[in-house]
Amino acid sequence: MRIAIGSFVQESQFFSPVKGSWQHFGPEQIVRGQAMLDAASGTRSEVAGAMDAAAQRAVWLVPLLRAMSSSSSGPIAREVYESIRDELLARLREALAEPVDGVLMVMHGAMSAEGYNDATGDVLQRARQIIGPLTPLVATLDLHANITRSMCEAADGLVGYLTFPHVDLYETGARGMQLLLDTASGKVKPTIAMAKLPMIIPAENAQTTQGIIHDLLQTAQAHLKTPGIRDISIFPMQPWMDTPEAGCAVVVVAEEAQRAHATHIAAQLADIWWRRRREHQVELAPTKQTIAEALVSERKPWVLADSADAPSSGAPGDSTVTLQALLDAQPAKDCYTNIVDPQAVAALIEAGVGNEATVSLGACSGTTLYRPITVTGRIRLISDGAFVHKGEGLRGATMRRGRTVVLQAGRVHVVVMERACLQWDPELYRSVGLEPTDAQIVIVKSPAGFRAAYSPFAAEIRVLDAPGVCTPNLTALPYARIPRPMWPFDPIDDWRIARA
Ligand SMILES: [Zn+2]
Repeated sequence: MRIAIGSFVQESQFFSPVKGSWQHFGPEQIVRGQAMLDAASGTRSEVAGAMDAAAQRAVWLVPLLRAMSSSSSGPIAREVYESIRDELLARLREALAEPVDGVLMVMHGAMSAEGYNDATGDVLQRARQIIGPLTPLVATLDLHANITRSMCEAADGLVGYLTFPHVDLYETGARGMQLLLDTASGKVKPTIAMAKLPMIIPAENAQTTQGIIHDLLQTAQAHLKTPGIRDISIFPMQPWMDTPEAGCAVVVVAEEAQRAHATHIAAQLADIWWRRRREHQVELAPTKQTIAEALVSERKPWVLADSADAPSSGAPGDSTVTLQALLDAQPAKDCYTNIVDPQAVAALIEAGVGNEATVSLGACSGTTLYRPITVTGRIRLISDGAFVHKGEGLRGATMRRGRTVVLQAGRVHVVVMERACLQWDPELYRSVGLEPTDAQIVIVKSPAGFRAAYSPFAAEIRVLDAPGVCTPNLTALPYARIPRPMWPFDPIDDWRIARA
């Protein structure tokens, strides 16, 4: 069998002041043809999982292109999106010079571009037009995807991560490939049932390790024992999708003969989720008070999440709020934090390692939620900023945050970076000589993804109440395009009032 595999991954944050651009899709972020498989080999990525699943069944893979944004941002600029999409599709067309038995698309599912609210659906629809109605098409998605009718129509199967923090990228790739191969070989003829809930929830309390999403996945697991029910994904959409089809969803992939039963399962899971929706509300810790409490604690480290400025959620990573609060506290113990500011990096490198310097830090994205601050400190280290993920989720993946400087002001160690990057892994600090277990306070700019790697050694974990475009306080955000009524903005009794 001959299977084409492609990938286009970006997560859009509609309230971010930063548009998705070529900066996010630099030469390192786009790999073509065989290089796509070479780069994935041995990692824990979806593509690696798909490759290994294919290898077990003697499948010939035709790698198209893999484009992955270096971080979340606002919707992608139209010409950037169309250029990448069209190259991916052109490669798919070329692959069809010989018969292709199926197509696997590794996507995020919450990708938007100028003129394309649902860019994932757009890519899948166009791929479907190219391959025709009979060739199987399966897409893998992030758990935070926004599932649309367009995606369900275009694909034979949609398969999402079952973990948050995300540690099953590899397994999701393998699941997607297995479903595709079973479809291509005629073993199954899948159909997709979706229940869409008129509900937007913050990411902080949507982990799969405990609570409502965990319980839903357990119930889903029991349904998978029913013959013909092939795959179930729960999609608590990331909350910053200000689009007309926004909402959480349950997706059941089943044999066509089991369509009615699949629809029933999706609705039943949606019922349970809807009844327990209030459990998603987040208790936030007041920033100053929590820092004070952490500094007098006997236990360390306190891992404090500034989720409102999380680059993984699409924030610029340049908030000065927690940094200022740390400096104000004049700690007698080591505290680690980080901030994006390319101009400050240049100035600090110019000043030179070992020297003292005074720089303006933060707020370079132009948000009105916080202001730049002036910091004087000693330059302890200068680095190219690259580090390799060692935690489960993205083990082996290299993160690039541009040139990076450690600036020490008193006992506050600030990692100043040229670009935002994922903050799931303590290597963010370790790679620049800062050991999180030695610190009293470690700031992570992430809603929950950091928990997988930090929980094993954190003395305390708190989510801070700080301003930022990714605040979990959703009613404070200027949504304009989501369908109404929508919980928690409007009172709704029954989720079924949602679009059919
Ligand atoms: Zn996600």
